[in-house]
Amino acid sequence: MVMELISFQKLFQMTKVINSQFEMSEILQVFVDAIAGEITQADLVGFFLKQPDGTFQGYKGNKLPVDITELLIDPREDEFVRDILRNQASDYISDTSIDLRLDQSKRQLLKIKSILGIPVIVENDVFGLVFVHDFGKPMNITQEQMEVTEAFVNMASVAIRNIRMFEQRQLLMEKQQLLLDATKALSESLSVKDVLNTFFHYMRKASGSKDIGIHLYNEKEHTIEPYQLSSENVTVDEWKVKHREVKLTIENDRLLYEVITQKKSAAIEDVYADPRPNHKAFVSFDIRSIMVFPLVAKGSVYGVVAIPSIGKPRKYEASILEFCQSISDATATALSNAQHTETLDHSVNERSIELQHANFKLEGLVRELEHLNELKSDFIATLSHELRTPITAVKGSVDILSKGILGGLNDSQKDLLDIASKSIERLLDQVNELLDFAKMENGKFELVYTEADFKEIIKESVHIVQSLINKKKLILVVESDAETDTIVSVDKQRILQILLNLLSNAIKFTPPMGVITIKTIFEETVLTVEVHDSGIGIPYEKQKNIFTKFYQANNQINGTGLGLAISKQLIELHGGRIWFESTEGQGSVFKFTLPKGRG
Ligand code: ADP
Repeated sequence: MVMELISFQKLFQMTKVINSQFEMSEILQVFVDAIAGEITQADLVGFFLKQPDGTFQGYKGNKLPVDITELLIDPREDEFVRDILRNQASDYISDTSIDLRLDQSKRQLLKIKSILGIPVIVENDVFGLVFVHDFGKPMNITQEQMEVTEAFVNMASVAIRNIRMFEQRQLLMEKQQLLLDATKALSESLSVKDVLNTFFHYMRKASGSKDIGIHLYNEKEHTIEPYQLSSENVTVDEWKVKHREVKLTIENDRLLYEVITQKKSAAIEDVYADPRPNHKAFVSFDIRSIMVFPLVAKGSVYGVVAIPSIGKPRKYEASILEFCQSISDATATALSNAQHTETLDHSVNERSIELQHANFKLEGLVRELEHLNELKSDFIATLSHELRTPITAVKGSVDILSKGILGGLNDSQKDLLDIASKSIERLLDQVNELLDFAKMENGKFELVYTEADFKEIIKESVHIVQSLINKKKLILVVESDAETDTIVSVDKQRILQILLNLLSNAIKFTPPMGVITIKTIFEETVLTVEVHDSGIGIPYEKQKNIFTKFYQANNQINGTGLGLAISKQLIELHGGRIWFESTEGQGSVFKFTLPKGRG
């Protein structure tokens, strides 16, 4: 009865402890102490933790004469332990000199006469073993003590399971946070260098490995080439040299072939037991285990991440694989985007340099052409100037002859001289046009402004062309609307030249009996002049070239094709504008404006 009370109190205390403690080693210590306190005749209580290789490592003890962490139990050498593990139930040896199942070396070391062994089972798996034993004299424990001890062990199991769950949750949360941080950092990494640094940083954390290599897959050659490495074991250069020696391809490494073609990661704990990887390559790198992840962008694999375990084998938990895979996936797109941007920047730079070179050449060419053009205009200017003097002299002589000053002329002589005189005049006009053109081209052309009555200029032009009008039996109409002042500030000779040019074109391209109208509209600051004709008009497709120098729309013999080009320049020099409307077969109208003051 008393015994029971004590036990319940202890159980209650322990419940409190295990609910307030989350540290595995502390709970196990409380638990070991509680058992030791319960079974007073037991000198020693020890808790052994199961190891991945199936042995049990001493972890927490009570009053042991040796350091428990130095004790290791191997079930292969201990039948007693094997029985406990097989039955997953506690077992008791009351006299170790009769029941010989216990590992004899342990028995001697710890002077064990009697021993109770209890498995700690967590989630259907043996998590550890508790041993309660004496030191030199048998314990003779009661059934009741055994039950209480088992109850403690069960409580400990529950506590351990809770801690594990807590730890797992904690770990999961940490992983999620890490993944979140990694994704954020990757999205902020713009250059290839930044992406790689971020990747290596997070991948080292996720994989727990310091050796991480990124390889690029050459789809054409089927080769897997080293790209970037993070390692404390080898330098990047050594790594690349070794790669060059082994020359990995998807043909000589079936593991890479599978990862690349199936776009699936792989983990191999013992690479030499697996026929797929290239063993020669693994020997040269001293790789024992490996994880490989594909780098996928836009649906295809462009590389692989390899995380090897060098020098010693490694076991891979599914959660690690999943975690590393997530980091790889997040990196794949970021890396491919950064690479793409950098190649793009690079080629844009290259193109800009090419363009600069081309521009430079072009500038040289333009300068050369400008120079040639100047030479040409100078040549035309000199030539036309030189031609003008003899032509004027010939014209003078012809005029003298035709006036009969040097003697009477018969009719046929008169006719011949008349023809000669007209030809000379036309020639002079054309030479003058050429001279104007050359001057304009060279920028040596200057206007001489004077105040003039525009109506007078019209009159003068009409007077000059009147004989041609009459000869061709054309009708010339002058319409002038002069509500305001008709005085303008212009280069009178040049304006007369423009008017004569437009009128002579109108006369030239209008058949006999046609009508030519000059309209002048005077406004406050500007005047508009229109020369209408009822002539042949200009075909629509030729209209765009009319103001181009040397252009002739109708292949006529007379003229240079310079008249309109020169007129346009003259008008623009005055600050005005010239344009036309024309319908083939119906006639044309040329219009220009002039500011009344100086342009
Ligand atoms: P051109 O000295 O040959 O007349 P222009 O520069 O004065 O040179 O005119 C260019 C061309 O525009 C002419 O050859 C002619 O084909 C066309 N053109 C000019 N004015 C008229 C018009 N009033 N009617 C029809 N065609 C015209």
